[in-house]
Amino acid sequence: MKILTDIQALADAGLIPPAAAAALAPVAARYAVRVTPEMAQLIDGPDDPIARQFIPDAAELATTPEERADPIGDDVHSPLPGLIHRYPDRVLLKPINVCPVYCRFCFRRETVGHAPAMTPAELDAAIAYIADRPAIWEVILTGGDPMMLKPASLKRIVKGLEAIPHVQILRLHTRVPIADPARVTGDLIQAIKGAGRLAPYVSIHANHARELTPAARAAAARLADAGIPLLAQTVLLRGVNADVETLADLMRALVSARIRPYYLHHPDLAPGTARFRLSIAEGQRIVAGLRGALSGLCQPTYVLDVPGGFGKSPVGPSFVTNEDGAMQVRDPFGGEHAYPPRIAGEADGC
Ligand SMILES: *Cc1c(COP(=O)(O)O)cnc(C)c1O
Ligand code: SF4
Repeated sequence: MKILTDIQALADAGLIPPAAAAALAPVAARYAVRVTPEMAQLIDGPDDPIARQFIPDAAELATTPEERADPIGDDVHSPLPGLIHRYPDRVLLKPINVCPVYCRFCFRRETVGHAPAMTPAELDAAIAYIADRPAIWEVILTGGDPMMLKPASLKRIVKGLEAIPHVQILRLHTRVPIADPARVTGDLIQAIKGAGRLAPYVSIHANHARELTPAARAAAARLADAGIPLLAQTVLLRGVNADVETLADLMRALVSARIRPYYLHHPDLAPGTARFRLSIAEGQRIVAGLRGALSGLCQPTYVLDVPGGFGKSPVGPSFVTNEDGAMQVRDPFGGEHAYPPRIAGEADGC
C-alpha cells in the first residue's frame, strides 16, 4: 500500500465513496492530504475515529465567524521566519512544514503541506537569534514534523543548538512514531541525541488508543531504550476521543508504551474544524472522569491555547472552592470536604 496524498488515491483505496470525490477536490486543494498505510489500515468505515482525523470532509470549506487562519497567534510572536518566541525561556523552531499525515483539525493547517522549509540562511539566522538570548533554555522543534527531516539535516540543527551554552533542553513535537514508525531509525535517534550535550524529549501526538499499533509501540520503545523520555500530546476531538472511556483507553495505552501524557489540548479555532469541537464545560466533565479512576501517570493537563497568541492556560476542572476564606476541596470520588478539616463538635457549635 502506498502513501495516499490526493482524493483519487483515497477513492481508489475505498476510503471515500467515488461519488464524493468531486465535492472533496476543493478541500484537498485548500488543505493538504496525506494518509500513511499504517493509518489507512486502521480505518474501519467513515465514522471511524481514525478516518475522522485524516479523511477530508466537505464541511472543511465552511468557516465559522470565530475561526481564524492563525488560531494560536503564532504570527504575532514570530521575530524571524520559522521561529516563534512567546515565552521568555523557550522558542519554537519550525524547520519544515511537512508531516507524515495531515490532520483535518490541525491548528497550522493553513501552512502545513504548503509553506516551504526554512532555508539554510534562515536556519542560521534563527540559531544566531537563540545564541544572542541567554534566557532561552529550551528549543522545541515542531512544524510540520521535525522527524520528517533527513537525519543529516536534523543533526546539523542539533549541532548548532549544542554550541549555544544556555540551551539545555531539546524537545521534538512529532507524529512520526505513530503515523510512519519505520522512519524512527537508529540514524534518526542518533541525530536527536547529537553529541549528548542537550537533554532530549520527544512529545508524540496521539489521539486514540488504536493508533498505538505494534509498530508504533516498537518505535516508541526504540526511542525510550535510547534514553529519550517520551511525552504525549492529545487533542480532545468530538467523534474521535471525547468521552471518558475512549480517553482512558488512550491514556493507559500511552503509559503502557512508556509515553507519559503531558497535554490534552482543547481543540483550536482552526478554519473548517467545527465538527470536532465541544465546549470547555464538556471537556472538564470528561477530564474529571479520569481523576481517581486512573493512575496519576495517566492524567494529562487539559489546556487551552488562548486565541490570539496569549499562551496556554490550564482549563481543567477545579477541585477547590474558596468562599469568604472557607476552602472546600472535592475528593476524586465526589465528596466535599472543608480544609482545614473541622474539628468534630465545633462545626455546628457557633
Ligand atoms: C505550546 C508552545 C510552547 C510550549 O509550551 P509548554 O507549555 O512549555 O509545553 C512554547 N512556545 C509556543 C509558541 C507554543 O505555542
Ligand atoms: S501532525 Fe501536527 S502539525 Fe502535522 S497536520 Fe497533524 S496536527 Fe498539524
